[in-house]
Amino acid sequence: MKKKLKHLFDNLCCSQCKCGFDEDSIEIKREETGLLVTHLTCRNCGKSFGVAFLGLNNIEIKNPEDMALEVQEGPEAISYDDVIDAHRFIQSLEADWQKHLPK
Ligand SMILES: [Zn+2]
Repeated sequence: MKKKLKHLFDNLCCSQCKCGFDEDSIEIKREETGLLVTHLTCRNCGKSFGVAFLGLNNIEIKNPEDMALEVQEGPEAISYDDVIDAHRFIQSLEADWQKHLPK
């Protein structure tokens, strides 16, 4: 699964040190049916990019280049419905996980 995830980040790099991401940059916090909760961290400088919620349908995309996934500081772009769906999966994540959600 991590190898598939890596494709999503292949063309991205750390905004702080410009180091590319690899499999070890991705920590899977939760893996549930239809949803992955991942945490992306730069292995070079240790910068954290927060928690990303990924639908498994996206992971199965054949052309990773088609993924419009942007890594940025702060909350990932997720819809309100995604937040509701994900909520029950992430209740036991770190206590301050809600800081990653849009206000
Ligand atoms: Zn970095």
